[in-house]
Amino acid sequence: MKYFPIFIDVAQRVCLLVGGDEAAARKLRLLLKAGAKVRLVAKQVTPEIAEAIAGGSVGYAQRDFVPADLANVAYIVVSDDSQAEAVRAASARLGIPLNVVDRPDLSTAITPGIVDRNPVIVAIGSNGGAPVLVRRLRERIEAALPPGLGRLAAFAQRFRLAVAATRPPGDARRRFWEGFFDGPVAAQVLDGREDEACDEMLRLVNAAEQPAPAGLVSLVGVGPGDPDLLTLKALRAMQDADSVLYDALIGPEILDYVRRDAERICVGKRKGAHCKSQKEILELLRERAAAGRRVVRLKGGDPFLFGRGGEELVYLRQQGIAAEVVPGITAALGAAAAAEIPLTHRGLAQGCSLLTGHGKDGEPDLDPALLAGQGTLAIYMGLSVAKRLAERIVAAGRPAGTPVAVVERATWKDQRTLYGTLETLGDLVRREAVIGPALLIVGDVVSLGREAAPPRSLLQAAV
Ligand code: SAH
Repeated sequence: MKYFPIFIDVAQRVCLLVGGDEAAARKLRLLLKAGAKVRLVAKQVTPEIAEAIAGGSVGYAQRDFVPADLANVAYIVVSDDSQAEAVRAASARLGIPLNVVDRPDLSTAITPGIVDRNPVIVAIGSNGGAPVLVRRLRERIEAALPPGLGRLAAFAQRFRLAVAATRPPGDARRRFWEGFFDGPVAAQVLDGREDEACDEMLRLVNAAEQPAPAGLVSLVGVGPGDPDLLTLKALRAMQDADSVLYDALIGPEILDYVRRDAERICVGKRKGAHCKSQKEILELLRERAAAGRRVVRLKGGDPFLFGRGGEELVYLRQQGIAAEVVPGITAALGAAAAAEIPLTHRGLAQGCSLLTGHGKDGEPDLDPALLAGQGTLAIYMGLSVAKRLAERIVAAGRPAGTPVAVVERATWKDQRTLYGTLETLGDLVRREAVIGPALLIVGDVVSLGREAAPPRSLLQAAV
């Protein structure tokens, strides 16, 4: 992030505008709207600017910029390119934020695209690099925000002090406001029924403080890594969380979607290197929820597939702690989609088994009857034991030439898929230095994968 986004209070402060063209006129409108005292320096001005000068709302000097123009200035905008260097040289020493229109290279401040629902202002920036994209985004946000949003914010502001006086700071106050914005009173305000809303709001504010809500643990599946594959329900739980416990294995971008003020605890379970034991994790969940917090336990993929979600749920139930499960897209489905390998396909595979290559003692612990069958095998945690796994599958009766895909970091930006056979799998994993997380897909359907080279006969049989 090159620029730090802030909103500056310019009301009653002097802002210098150098230039008198259309761009200057646009900036002038915004500055006046924000209550700034504008000092304008330009040899020529547009009729709109001339009118503002005549109306007395702008101090005007008809000449080139001189350093004395910077006295007491809080913010500078230059739309006249010929003056930019001089202004820059004179203002740099003083550290006054400078915006040169369309010249991020000369600017120390850039102005964002704005969606105005005063007092709610959405500002959108691209480090000055893609103004057209910013405009497109602005249109989409304009369309998405209800016109009554500003009214709603103003309404809430009117009750801020009253709520502050009746609710202690922290969780209780935040929950009051969350309940308000999600509830019927806010809907009334958006609807334009402010009088009704006002009566109802007074009642809410004066009502005895709600007892601290009982805590809740949400076991949330976040999918294989791509944040676009989060469910809406997962996103909502992540946005409402007080405490978040997450595994090291969830995709690197997922945490960006957690409420910024939520407590974050990495319980980093990587194979062989637990930074918190399962017992400690259970205790953390219980203790946070018992204190009335909304606890979100983030899990890669789906919580109920090789994620110990079942154990956590049973424990919480025993402890009398409310819990819910939010399903996620499991790695097998993410990997299959990423590699474009259908897990079932008429004529090739009638079913699919989800298996783990990592038994309790670390050795593969697999039912030979499952391995021998006709269906596809999707194997989790199989990387480090790939060679032995392949041998077992062959011993169970599958041909050594059965195709295998290794889908590494499926749906992450650096995902890759490698193809081999049961016979070559061990070598493949070693040669290609697969780090994981990786999912193994075994079966004829692998030949349909995106970069596989399927035998022609197989393709014909499959269509
Ligand atoms: N609950 C998870 C699985 C946890 S076990 C789920 O439903 O997906 C961890 C194993 O999942 C890893 O060893 C790997 O085999 C697999 N895995 C998780 N994320 C993956 C990804 N993005 N790509 C490939 N495999 C993944």
